[in-house]
Amino acid sequence: MDFIRYAEAAAALLNADMTDVDDLVAYLRDRDRPTDQATDRDCMLLRKFQRELRPVFEAGTAEDADAVVERLNELMARHPVTPRISGHDGDLHLHVATENASLAELLVGESLLGLATLVCDLGPNRLGECAALRCTAVFVDTSPNQSRRYCSERCSSRANVAAFRARQKAVAASA
Ligand SMILES: [Zn+2]
Ligand SMILES: [Zn+2]
Repeated sequence: MDFIRYAEAAAALLNADMTDVDDLVAYLRDRDRPTDQATDRDCMLLRKFQRELRPVFEAGTAEDADAVVERLNELMARHPVTPRISGHDGDLHLHVATENASLAELLVGESLLGLATLVCDLGPNRLGECAALRCTAVFVDTSPNQSRRYCSERCSSRANVAAFRARQKAVAASA
């Protein structure tokens, strides 16, 4: 597994609408994954997982490294992950074992293994929530100087425009 890709997929999973199977299918299509296993039950389990996973990103936003680690450990205890070494495309790497796992369990396992590896390899301060007003999306910060604050280019430029307008207003008011 490319753990950064899996950690980013975990953030995308948390940001995804999971109201019904069509939403889950759309998420899987975005990731070039097969969609034929998706069920209502997977959606229900993934909605529950979204609620469990958000506090990990909230702790990241608060730069509470201990809480990030503690919450991820709690989630791995609640959702045991079975890693499996795979060599299907040359280099040996970790996958989550798929035997007897539902689609939801597989996505949860990949999310947790990806996030846990990211936290161990790059540090616990890599998870956050978008700083833009009225945006609750989460992100994985892979920038070299850990400076990411927004979920997307769109939110970043929206926030910059708002800050620029606020400065103009302040200048106009003081003139
Ligand atoms: Zn692989
Ligand atoms: Zn955002």
